[in-house]
Amino acid sequence: MKDETKCLHAGYTPKNGEPRVFPIYQSTTYTFETSKQIGDLFDMPTAPMYSRFANPTVDVVEKKIADLEGGVGAMCTSSGQAASLIAILNLCSAGDSFISSASIYGGTLNLFSVTLKKLGIECIFVDPDSSEEEIQKAFRPNTKAVFGETLANPALTVFDIEKFAKVAHKNQVPLIVDNTFATPILCKPFDFGADIVIHSTTKYMDGHALQVGGVIVDSGNFDYTTGKFPDFTEPDESYHGIVYSKVFGRQAYIVKARMQLMRDFGAFPAANSAFLLNLGLETLAVRMKQYCENALAVAKYFQKTDKIESVSYPALPEDKYHALAQKYLPDGTSGVISITVKGGRANAEKFMDGLKLASKEVHVADIRTCVLHPASATHRQLTDEQLIAAGVNPAMIRFSVGLENVEDIIADIEQSLDQI
Ligand SMILES: *Cc1c(COP(=O)(O)O)cnc(C)c1O
Repeated sequence: MKDETKCLHAGYTPKNGEPRVFPIYQSTTYTFETSKQIGDLFDMPTAPMYSRFANPTVDVVEKKIADLEGGVGAMCTSSGQAASLIAILNLCSAGDSFISSASIYGGTLNLFSVTLKKLGIECIFVDPDSSEEEIQKAFRPNTKAVFGETLANPALTVFDIEKFAKVAHKNQVPLIVDNTFATPILCKPFDFGADIVIHSTTKYMDGHALQVGGVIVDSGNFDYTTGKFPDFTEPDESYHGIVYSKVFGRQAYIVKARMQLMRDFGAFPAANSAFLLNLGLETLAVRMKQYCENALAVAKYFQKTDKIESVSYPALPEDKYHALAQKYLPDGTSGVISITVKGGRANAEKFMDGLKLASKEVHVADIRTCVLHPASATHRQLTDEQLIAAGVNPAMIRFSVGLENVEDIIADIEQSLDQI
């Protein structure tokens, strides 16, 4: 099946007389006929037994996303943050380190640089434009993973997946890619050597601003049996001595994430959230095409006006990341554009406040056009000097183009710029 078809049909094929739409299994638990059947599940959960880590409605969505990414399995989480956390903790323990691109989402940056550090896991940041030799220099004997974002939020750098995968694999560690902005419609990181993909499903996958969620997808391609990952190759005492790599083979990573970490942390989505996410996924392929088409027109408009200092949108031929975008995102680079307004912070705020159609909100990648001024919101604790050091221009606006008619979006921009 092609992506448009998978969006509608993957994950669930109703049998004779079954509902066309997969129902919401609003139940915390599942009943069995014998104590032995329940006991067997505690040795090796193969069917849902408790909705802290498995639920039939969530399962359908997991299968659909795994299919779209081309993976062997997926696990939904209660947020994108929970997906990043579990993806790392499934590989790293206290005393380990991992490498991350420095150009990543602010929430992920906090998690990696502050909270994981308190747990004894060190994140070593590297410039996404580093050479293979520079990336290699960041490796230590205790390095267990490499992390990057296909299209970084909000900097819109394009991550060179093949380059990072090559160095990661040379060091026998997997590459994790946050594919939130690209979605599997615009980029399939597994095709370029990534081993694990995560998403904040809160963004385009849901697309309608209805649920906060995340997902981890396993390619099944990474070999965890080289000796670097004893948690995969030695018995897990909390499951009567199961050895994940032996029992689950190519699905070892994603099964371990559920059986150990989701069981213990419980950051699992509600069935109702998964149902809403599935509605978004049904139209993901058609929506992504239209976001890209609208955003390219808006980015070109921004380029033409004399009140905008600079426009970051990798699909534009003039963009610094255009060549990488052509390789990894040939069909478009999502609906998100970063602009800096001439005249600094004051004019950026004026431009945002003057918009009438675009929603001013802490959100991005929605069906409705929305904007955020990072300097006065997500990065407000920083001075202008600190902002520039962090790569966030005080006059930067993150402009997330929605699915309104593009002429209306541009007219709204025009009337607001006219007021500056
Ligand atoms: C929003 C976002 C996250 C975090 O996701 P939540 O669902 O808000 O927890 C992670 N990565 C990227 C790229 C994001 O845009």
